[in-house]
Amino acid sequence: MSLLVTKFGGTSVATPERMCRAAQRLVDYQRQGHQVLAVVSAMGSSTDDLLALAHEVNPAPPERELDLLLATGEIVSMSILAMAVESLGCRAQSFTGHQAGIVTTARHNRAQIAHIKTERLERALDEGNIVIVAGFQGFTKTGELTTLGRGGSDTSAVALAAALHADLCEIYSDVDGVYTADPRVVPRAQKLESISYEEMLELSAAGSGALQMRAVEFARNFNVTLYCRSAFSDNPGTFVKEEAVEQALVSGIAYDNSEAKITIRGVPDTKGIAADVFSAIAKAHINVDMIVQNISEHGLTDISFTAPAGDLDRLRPVLDKQVARLGAREYLVDTKITKLSLVGAGLRTNPGIAAKMFKVLSQNDINIEMISTSAIRISVVIDTKKSQTAQQALHTAFDLDAKQVFREATLSKEERAAKAKKGR
Ligand code: ASP
Ligand code: MG
Repeated sequence: MSLLVTKFGGTSVATPERMCRAAQRLVDYQRQGHQVLAVVSAMGSSTDDLLALAHEVNPAPPERELDLLLATGEIVSMSILAMAVESLGCRAQSFTGHQAGIVTTARHNRAQIAHIKTERLERALDEGNIVIVAGFQGFTKTGELTTLGRGGSDTSAVALAAALHADLCEIYSDVDGVYTADPRVVPRAQKLESISYEEMLELSAAGSGALQMRAVEFARNFNVTLYCRSAFSDNPGTFVKEEAVEQALVSGIAYDNSEAKITIRGVPDTKGIAADVFSAIAKAHINVDMIVQNISEHGLTDISFTAPAGDLDRLRPVLDKQVARLGAREYLVDTKITKLSLVGAGLRTNPGIAAKMFKVLSQNDINIEMISTSAIRISVVIDTKKSQTAQQALHTAFDLDAKQVFREATLSKEERAAKAKKGR
């Protein structure tokens, strides 16, 4: 008997009606003869709502308490989905992260799954239950509840699929697969039939929201085939697996508006400076992405780097201290930047791709502020105002345009009818 792990994202279980539709899918799978385990996210925007609630009483909520609060979102989802399954005449049991045996590291708000004690889940599956597990949460060796970071339910699903040797891990969300670009930005984006782990990892790292990066890493490490598809249609989705079916030169374009560019000006150009600055930043648990050091003049240089704009509050005091300590002139922060990335296995063997990318940008009057590359990715930092133009131009230049303009298939029939009624 095959085991299917199925993950439902927040929008896929946002309303009672959607819960029932998700339940129906699970029941259908079981009736087709599969063992079925579902992983759920919190309903709709409830994680955001809980976060906002926390911030209303405390601008810096303690991380331990935040974990306890946010975990409730997925607990609501799992029990409601289990009830919906039971109403369709099948047996279901839901489990919190703790009950499901998901053991994590002790880092609150950003825990990593260490291992999963699968006995209880296996027993429930063998007893014929549709098993439902709260995503995004686990517990530490000492019994503390933890969460896995935003979007962490993907990781829960993949980790469970790996631990239980599932045959497939389906990820249902409001997008029906992985696209060559964000269809809201590039209307001629196309859905990919399949994509390799490696390319998907780069796309996720570069800002594609299709899948959480850690989930893809897990999938690659444990060779779990993922199938990303829409909860709102039966359209075919995108497989993420070892090798894509057809290898395009460039598979996709991703962008990320969440980073800020920081430039430390007038830094003495002597050895150990970069080590000092970036050790201090790392100690504050802030991930630095691109780094550029300019040519020095009169023994002084400028260092630019990007870091998550959301970490600026924690970064500023670190930089204040470093600037004073090193005798640098000042630091500047620019939050209106976009990191735009081209990803494709073809980059490995086609040195001309980078040159072409830069040419397309210059033809569109777009200045490149920073560049970084990996074996299969080129990323540039540009002004956010130019982001859409850049993405559309690159999409066309690299022959990614679909014949047809993308039409959103994320709304239910009822929602579409309501929208039409409003005459929008
Ligand atoms: N509910 C959590 C979030 O919104 C986890 C998830 O949806 O994957 O980030
Ligand atoms: Mg969510």
